[in-house]
Amino acid sequence: MRKVLKVLVDSRMIILSVMGVSLYLAISQYHISLWYILAAGVITGVIFGKVFCRWVCPMGLMMEMMMNLSPGGKVKQMYMYHKVGCPIAWISGFLNKFSLFSIKINEDTCKNCGICDKKCYIVAMEPVKYSLYKPALKKPGDSYTCSKCLQCVAACPNGSLTYKV
Ligand code: SF4
Ligand code: SF4
Repeated sequence: MRKVLKVLVDSRMIILSVMGVSLYLAISQYHISLWYILAAGVITGVIFGKVFCRWVCPMGLMMEMMMNLSPGGKVKQMYMYHKVGCPIAWISGFLNKFSLFSIKINEDTCKNCGICDKKCYIVAMEPVKYSLYKPALKKPGDSYTCSKCLQCVAACPNGSLTYKV
């Protein structure tokens, strides 16, 4: 299962490109109501949390491609962190706290190496507030700004982080 997740995470831009272009074509060619898209964002939000922005959304694809072209990694992190301009992002971000799937840590196997935190833009922006493994800090996966890139889970060498029900 971990291997599958890693392949998915490594292929995320390809998945986002296919989904984003397909969704754009569906909206522009078949005039699908944006209410259906909002409903899809809410349903996926209830199940998976805020996955829509970084796995499905055509706007998210365009913005992420622009950020990938920008020279500063910090700018990209800030974009990921402060991205707030869409009702699907608001609702599904709020649902991160309550979604069926969530990022969990097995404290018994965690080696406190910190690799997961290095992968997370939320921790990069607010390292004194958030951590995936430090028990005293808030969990970034529950925060509004986590858009379930799942890089933290894929990077953990011990399999101590999981994304499951
Ligand atoms: S999925 Fe993990 S790495 Fe990505 S933003 Fe959420 S907590 Fe950070
Ligand atoms: S990468 Fe895994 S082992 Fe290392 S601190 Fe994070 S959860 Fe613990």
